[in-house]
Amino acid sequence: MNLRHTVKLSRRRLLAGLAAAPTLTAAAEPLAAQTPEVKTAAQTAQAALKDAKGTKLVLLGTGAGPVPGRTRKMTSHVMLSNGSAYVLDCGLGVTDRFANTGIPFGALKSIFITHHHADHNIEYGPLLIVGWIQGLRLDVRTFGPPPLKQMTDDFMRAYKATVDFWAEDFKMKPLASINVQEVSAAGQVMEDDNVKVSAIPVDHPPVKPALGYRFDFKDRSIAFSGDTTPLDAVANMAKGADVLVHEAMYVPAVEKYIREQIAAGRPVTVDAYMAHMKADHSPVEDVGRIAAEAGVETLVLSHLTPAIDSITDDAWRARAAKYFKGEIIVGKDLMVV
Ligand SMILES: [Zn+2]
Ligand SMILES: [Zn+2]
Repeated sequence: MNLRHTVKLSRRRLLAGLAAAPTLTAAAEPLAAQTPEVKTAAQTAQAALKDAKGTKLVLLGTGAGPVPGRTRKMTSHVMLSNGSAYVLDCGLGVTDRFANTGIPFGALKSIFITHHHADHNIEYGPLLIVGWIQGLRLDVRTFGPPPLKQMTDDFMRAYKATVDFWAEDFKMKPLASINVQEVSAAGQVMEDDNVKVSAIPVDHPPVKPALGYRFDFKDRSIAFSGDTTPLDAVANMAKGADVLVHEAMYVPAVEKYIREQIAAGRPVTVDAYMAHMKADHSPVEDVGRIAAEAGVETLVLSHLTPAIDSITDDAWRARAAKYFKGEIIVGKDLMVV
């Protein structure tokens, strides 16, 4: 046996072993390579999920906008109910963060996309393919606004050679086509043994449709605003839910940020930039008002704009608390709610 053959065999055995044990790869392996902060957050999340009774929500990425290199990853969430996992949004970082939770990729049943901005969908395809290598079920279903079907087919076509090489090497059934359901109007999206999911169109120009979702599990209801201006329709959708996860913008910090950018030469005016932000997003005070109107128990502030660490949790909370008297959680990556 020559050296190359030995190397190939052991690599094959190693990878086949890993592929056969998705729990191990998801839970134990990547932790070694994480920064101390992420390692601690991942261990805390894994412990919380292990002891969990009932449905849990994990905030995977809580930063707004397609900006890499921050503490907060782009937007994504996973809900775990009865051993089944449901992912909402696939910003950059979703696959790593999913692995950090220790939830096996084989538990992932459905993926939902709110809208086609990069901070919500850019890692959708990679999650499917890396997930498949790690044990994702071939009948995984995905839901989101058009043209999700065309995007999925195009992505799978672009990566067909990659999938086929892997399938041949490890004798796996290739991930060929994905069951996609496009959602463009209000109403029920799907129902399975664990959950009933519905959607509403929200206000996030020029993206149409942009969606908010509500997940009614047997023990718990969780609503998501998606990216939107403050909207009564979101309050109505979230009526009586246990948890509302709402995007939130801290206006003074956004103004400060854009003044600094302009000073550094960015060709935009404060007024034009702020008008754009207010036409697309929700100031955190309004988010508090909507949570109060919805009568939810817990408000989770996420998709934080700006996603910087210098705004304290108390500062975020105080603005929403002007209107909302329930529990207010300032979202952080890998937080279990
Ligand atoms: Zn966004
Ligand atoms: Zn957006």
